[in-house]
Amino acid sequence: MRFFGGLLLCLFPVWAVAAGQPVAIALHGGAGTIERDRMSAEVEAEYRSFLDKAISDGYQQLQAGEEGLDVVVAIIQRMEDSPLFNAGKGAVYTWEGQHELDASIMHGALMDAGAVAGVTTVQSPIALARAVMEQSPHVMLASRGAEQFAAELGIPEVSADYFSTERRKRALESYKARKQAGVEPEVDYKFGTVGVVVLDSKGNLAAGTSTGGMTGKRWGRIGDAPVIGAGTYADNRSCAVSATGHGEYFIRHTVARDICARMQFAGQSLQDAAESVIMDELMAAGGDGGIVAVDADGHVSMVFNTPGMYRASVSGSGEKRIGIFGDEP
Ligand code: ASP
Repeated sequence: MRFFGGLLLCLFPVWAVAAGQPVAIALHGGAGTIERDRMSAEVEAEYRSFLDKAISDGYQQLQAGEEGLDVVVAIIQRMEDSPLFNAGKGAVYTWEGQHELDASIMHGALMDAGAVAGVTTVQSPIALARAVMEQSPHVMLASRGAEQFAAELGIPEVSADYFSTERRKRALESYKARKQAGVEPEVDYKFGTVGVVVLDSKGNLAAGTSTGGMTGKRWGRIGDAPVIGAGTYADNRSCAVSATGHGEYFIRHTVARDICARMQFAGQSLQDAAESVIMDELMAAGGDGGIVAVDADGHVSMVFNTPGMYRASVSGSGEKRIGIFGDEP
């Protein structure tokens, strides 16, 4: 199966590139209560410059003919390594003051996928998710077993406190204080996941998502990010999607797959499909969050029902967009 898939990929690209195959990329760094009057000019500039550089580099890599999966992993790793985002370094804390990381990746031509949940010592959960996809017969590995697999492959490990930051520690303390006082914690505590979707020069779609999950999560809670069809999905016949938001809702509504299925079976455009799911269905259910997506023609969609979402994209026609707040195009 993989062999034939690989064979097809080898034959198809020559034609596709010759026909002027567009490339496209979109990324998010989490959605939530991100508002202008709550953010200093310095912090805003820091996010914007990160997003700008990451999206420009990713687009250039795609233009240079790099494989979509490589670009997804490279850009997500950069976000995992940055304390700005809730993935890798800078991941949120569990109720017990630990970090439990989730990630997944999917290839839209081969319909291959890999995911890891609840890992605590793997520096790059997205790299491990890719290894699960390519070097194991499985789709999803969890906790200790996933870490054992990482160790066998020599995937870099770090001590658990590598992921820790003061900012996230304070978020846990304030989350706990509010919970213990019987006040519902603010929506802010939930978001910050990262994700990348691409259309590469071979005409293949790919998607990846990586997260520390939700502040104060307990009992081995796993969100949507490592659930294929919920937080991540890619299918060359429709689109590639990465989600961020209140994971429980994204799992129940199989958000990423539903957007692709609406395109494939109901003939909706990418934007219509994404808006139907995020603005209509999820909002009616009370599910906060958003998605970034690209389709096989290089259209980009970045839709969220929260005040803001860190996001950036370059579409198939070369149009670049960077945004943080809800009132930006
Ligand atoms: N979706 C993630 C989760 O529920 C959280 C996020 O997007 O920030 O674990």
